[in-house]
Amino acid sequence: MIDKLNRNIEYLRISVTDRCNLRCTYCMPEEGVPEIKHEDILSFDEIIRICKVVAKLGIKKIKITGGEPLVRKGIVELIREINDIDGIDEITMTSNGVLLDEMVEDLKDAGVSAINVSLDTLNRENFAKITRRDKMDQVINGIKKSVKLGIKTKINCLVIKEHNYNELCDIARLAKDDNIQVRFIELMPIGCGKQFTGIPNEEILKMLEDEFGEFEIVKEKLGNGPARYYKNKDFKGCIGFISAISNEFCEECNRVRLTSNGFLKLCLHYNKGIDLREPLRNGISDDDLKDKIYKAIYNKPIHHEFYKYNSVDVEEKNMVEIGG
Ligand code: SAM
Ligand code: SF4
Repeated sequence: MIDKLNRNIEYLRISVTDRCNLRCTYCMPEEGVPEIKHEDILSFDEIIRICKVVAKLGIKKIKITGGEPLVRKGIVELIREINDIDGIDEITMTSNGVLLDEMVEDLKDAGVSAINVSLDTLNRENFAKITRRDKMDQVINGIKKSVKLGIKTKINCLVIKEHNYNELCDIARLAKDDNIQVRFIELMPIGCGKQFTGIPNEEILKMLEDEFGEFEIVKEKLGNGPARYYKNKDFKGCIGFISAISNEFCEECNRVRLTSNGFLKLCLHYNKGIDLREPLRNGISDDDLKDKIYKAIYNKPIHHEFYKYNSVDVEEKNMVEIGG
């Protein structure tokens, strides 16, 4: 559907849980965040109903996220059902990869066409420091299996000066040796992320060129999002940059988000949006639900204001509660 700024909103990120089996330092505090009560989390029937309604409004692509989506029981069946909805062309997932090895065959069978795996380091000790859990080997096995099964697999690497500045060339090398995309993500000053230092993507590109030689921008559109991709002649895959801060892409934003407790969130930066859970539980009709969602999306905020003092209605949650 088209919003008031003429942006085509066709992509919904659904956070299916606020639980996670890692504790990434930029995403949540060591003790975790207060968990949403089970009864306050949308049921699968509620999620499917919302998906059917938004499909009628022109949402074509769904990304399943969390918390960690693979810890929600029954996730494979939910994906299968969403994939069967008329109008939904593509269902993909963002995962930390810990459970991928054991679940990726079922995910493929249920219709998942692409998986983004978050991986910030290839050093086991550093992984344990960043995520507060020693699970890097499981993640690597999951990535290998996903690639082997022919699922489009991307690595999402969040770049943080205090964490992985010296490892970026090693991580980029994954795209040299295999036909996978490695994407470097700029830190956003949200929740626990505020205590760390991000690195502008331009600086990373320069670092990679010093190591591997020239990278050329890829002109054709790859993926559903705002990443810019670069190719190097010696690389089988390509390198992507997602630069929400240094290269604001709000003008082209095509997405909205649904949190696990049913809040339709219109922009990452703000707490603006509407609650869908209560009307769903109070018996709203499909037509009224569609109308409600349409009006909310139509008024999606113009752009984020990260780093602007005194911006209002700013999101106070941690990323684990939003889903990235
Ligand atoms: N657990 C899954 C995962 O890690 O991929 C899905 C949820 S996680 C919140 C989604 C993405 O958000 C991850 O790639 C993570 O690196 C990213 N993220 C978390 N905090 C962030 C921040 N402050 N700025 C930018 N990205 C962040
Ligand atoms: Fe969990 Fe993903 Fe947040 Fe890490 S980034 S704590 S894996 S939700």
